[in-house]
Amino acid sequence: MSQAINQQLVERFEEFIEVYCEEEIGVLLENYPKKQRSLNIDWGELYRFDPNMADDFITHPDSVTEAAKQALVNIGDLRYRTDDMLEKAHVRIYNLQELTDIREIRSKDVNTLVAIQGLIRKSTSVRPKVEIAAFECQRCATVTNVPQIRGYQEPFVCGGCERQGPFEIKFEKSTFSDAQTLLIQESPEGLRGGEQPQSIEIHIEDDISGMVSPGDRVIATGTLRLEQKKRGGEKLRVFEVYMEGISIVSEDLEFENIEISEGDEKTIIELSKQKEIYQQMIGSVAPSIYGYEQEKLAIALQLFSGVTKHLPDSTRIRGNVHILLVGDPGTGKSQLLQYIRHIAPRSVYTSGKGSSSAGLTAAAVKDDFGGGQQWSLEAGALVLADKGIAAVDEIDKMRVEDRSAMHEALEQQTVSVAKAGINATLKSRCSLLGAANPKYGQYDSYESIGDQINLEPALISRFDLIFRILDETNEELDEKIAEHIIKTNYIGEQGTRKKYSIENGEEPIELEQIAEEVKPEIEPELFRKYIAYAKRNCFPIMSKDAQKEIKKFYVGLRAVREVGGPIPVTARKLEALVRLAEASARVRLSDVVEKEDAMRVINLVQSSLEKVGIDPETGIFDATVIEMGKSRNQFDRVKSIRSIIEKLTLENPKDGASILDIIEQAKVEGIDEMQAEHMVKKMSESGEIYQPSAGYYKLLKGR
Ligand code: ADP
Ligand code: MG
Repeated sequence: MSQAINQQLVERFEEFIEVYCEEEIGVLLENYPKKQRSLNIDWGELYRFDPNMADDFITHPDSVTEAAKQALVNIGDLRYRTDDMLEKAHVRIYNLQELTDIREIRSKDVNTLVAIQGLIRKSTSVRPKVEIAAFECQRCATVTNVPQIRGYQEPFVCGGCERQGPFEIKFEKSTFSDAQTLLIQESPEGLRGGEQPQSIEIHIEDDISGMVSPGDRVIATGTLRLEQKKRGGEKLRVFEVYMEGISIVSEDLEFENIEISEGDEKTIIELSKQKEIYQQMIGSVAPSIYGYEQEKLAIALQLFSGVTKHLPDSTRIRGNVHILLVGDPGTGKSQLLQYIRHIAPRSVYTSGKGSSSAGLTAAAVKDDFGGGQQWSLEAGALVLADKGIAAVDEIDKMRVEDRSAMHEALEQQTVSVAKAGINATLKSRCSLLGAANPKYGQYDSYESIGDQINLEPALISRFDLIFRILDETNEELDEKIAEHIIKTNYIGEQGTRKKYSIENGEEPIELEQIAEEVKPEIEPELFRKYIAYAKRNCFPIMSKDAQKEIKKFYVGLRAVREVGGPIPVTARKLEALVRLAEASARVRLSDVVEKEDAMRVINLVQSSLEKVGIDPETGIFDATVIEMGKSRNQFDRVKSIRSIIEKLTLENPKDGASILDIIEQAKVEGIDEMQAEHMVKKMSESGEIYQPSAGYYKLLKGR
């Protein structure tokens, strides 16, 4: 297959390697072949050495790679005086000047060298791939070696008897190398609203296989190749582009795409000193949505996030804040979630059902990927959002498989997959912003959150803040929202007209003023930079005062128990308070969590708890509703009603317990009529009891 190697080019490469890679080649020779089999070449350095050669690498990667490899072999021979010392070594070029967008790849790029940036979405396990196959002739036992270039090839004729086989491959006489297929997807932040990310397959070999996992951000450099598509056994005219990967470089920096100039820095510092900075933050989160100041403040804090703590015993406490919005349909939850994409430096927006087979966490999947029926590992939303924010709409509709993996993903911030020979732990160091709709359509203030959304209480308690969003009717509020929505739409209409260059007959004078009202206070671009700057530079520490306030609030919450109530909150809330307070300090670019930060987040947590934690039957603040799913009072009451029905049914086995008797008995036990009626209704809806005839109830057996 090799064209004549350009000897001049080989000599130039020898020169380049001797001068620019002197140290690296020494290390390679020392460690070859066991520990190292590649020489990494920085394209930028090659360009400095010889721009034409560097450009040729891009346009004619095959012949140039061959020359470079030959140069490597020559140097090895020269230094070690053994033949073909580095025969199987690779030249791996990286750091091309230009990155190509995956969606911009066209047929003209085939057989050229490109570098793409993205996320590893899926990977096969590392498998042996035959390089030189040894075929034994079943007639004369001669072994014929056939180098495998593209596809699997048997010899045409036997090297001994010259007959056409049959042949049998001899594994022990063949040579194999490791191979892996990856699916790389565009980074989510490069996408404009609503675009589906595009992806491309990369085939990699030998020492670079098995180095990256799904969820990793990488720059992959390689040659684009074509593969013919088949339908049934028939070859089609359509081809698929894939990349023959040459190098994979991991990017672990959090905000590598966000550059902050000195001017930006000055603006950010100035902004941070303003008194109304928190109000400005609120005004910059989804300005087209009216109200929700608490929720917006929470989201702003989530964007800044607390500090990840590394403890002496080598455990870590997450700094990421998780928020859940639960509420009536049509209250703007989805809109809020979608807005995050404009400001969060790294974010993924998805729905609980998920569009991929990996769902929210990760999965071992068996499909056509990697050229055959085999298992591969696919990253879900929370892994893809590593170091960013995952906005998950309709989180209550997530797959069963995700439910168990979610606990680990939210607290330990990893996702483990152990299935079908795949054993992997992927990172999911993201903040989760979830939205859920109540099971029965409308939110029912008489029910605990756990009963209304289809999420286990243990999972619900992983959220640092939960907000209940009710579609309340209130004339004054309705009027304000209506005005806001109409204004927003009006501005949108004007924007559309402008886009299509339609002249407005009479330019409304107040237009600019209205636009001002629905404009974010801090431009998304600057907001992103602000967040990146704060997260890079601020790692606040609690002041004594802040510690005292948080402790006082927490102990106060727990003390409710002594009054005879249930256990209000668990220690998880305490960690949530600390995280939020740190985030609040970061907003001011402060290295110290002050008392004001503590007070701010205490207010926030209190209002969130009150919104969801008030025991609707007693009016007493009862956070077990969130922490444990059902309030203890309610739990006792269900038990009472059950035993009442049981007793009454014993007295009247044919009909069961009449509603009137149930209410009367309940009254004796201190449950008022409305409550009793409500409980009976709920219990019958949930199938705990049933009506054999109108107005009569029986317990469902076997529950
Ligand atoms: P949800 O996800 O809660 O069901 P959506 O986000 O789909 O609701 O909202 C439905 C529509 O109503 C959206 O177009 C949204 O802009 C609008 N809307 C609802 N509440 C508000 C509000 N408070 N301010 C502005 N627009 C709102
Ligand atoms: Mg919605």
